Amino acid sequence: QKKISISQIKDAAQEAFDLYKTNTDGKNADYIPYLANINKNLFGISICLLNGQTIQLGDTEYKFGIESVSKVHTAILVLRQYGAQQLLEKIGADATGLPFNSIFAILLENDHPSTPLVNAGAIAACSMVKPIADPENKWKAIVDNITDLCGSAPQLIDELYKSESETNFNNRSITWLLKNYNRIYDDPTMSLDLYTRQCSLGITATQLSICGATIANNGTNPVTRKQIFDTALSPKITSLIATVGFYEHTGDWLYTSGIPAKTGVGGGVMGTLPGLFGIAAFAPPIDNAGNSVKAQLAIKHIMNKLGLSAFSGD
Ligand code: GLU
Repeated sequence: QKKISISQIKDAAQEAFDLYKTNTDGKNADYIPYLANINKNLFGISICLLNGQTIQLGDTEYKFGIESVSKVHTAILVLRQYGAQQLLEKIGADATGLPFNSIFAILLENDHPSTPLVNAGAIAACSMVKPIADPENKWKAIVDNITDLCGSAPQLIDELYKSESETNFNNRSITWLLKNYNRIYDDPTMSLDLYTRQCSLGITATQLSICGATIANNGTNPVTRKQIFDTALSPKITSLIATVGFYEHTGDWLYTSGIPAKTGVGGGVMGTLPGLFGIAAFAPPIDNAGNSVKAQLAIKHIMNKLGLSAFSGD
């Protein structure tokens, strides 16, 4: 990868922050009151370099709902517990080109959920987490893994969990369809509950940038210096993120930004640039595919300003 100085990265991040902080496009996710009522002006950008140094601008310590960004964490946990081949066989690693909550993601590939980064595959991933049939310790494994990757613990937002649980009818259908095709590997209701709970964890942009940097750093958390997963898993994780991180807008995102990244309807985006840094941006208003408007603009600006791309030979 190209050599970029810290001050160049800082300047690009500051420029992106100043350019977009007053942008009012998009609107908060409104399927539950908790997300609808979050202050829509919150905005944070965090970059974690592979030497552990972080660059933070704006609301980088605000705990927002991790939502679908957590799909990456639990995919990593499944990879840690089962290895790359079993994830491919039991869930898949393909693009869906479909919205995050599409029930068709299960039917696309011969009854396969396609990827752990859409709802169907993420619920299947939660069902695979070991120890099987032990909800308490499965939950502990999920939270410990996020803590390892982010360098500090996430915190459950009770109100978010309650609203998500009361309104997740679509995910209930996906879960039972998975069960019908033998693609759920533990109790279905418990697996869905774990998925819903992990989506309701509060996380900060700083924590997500550290996770992105851990992936970019071949599995070693650059802040805690702990080796979290096997180096060989790193490109597998990055390829999953690159393939479907922005759902039906993934191609456009990669084409315009050059960085594999994962979004969540809580307004977070986590990107990973192998060998260089992890980046996260957070702003609640989202577009019609469920992706944060300002976070996308900011990350794109930084990547383009620095002339970086995961796909460039520089
Ligand atoms: N809790 C949401 C769901 O499963 C997450 C969606 C997202 O962040 O894309 O429907």
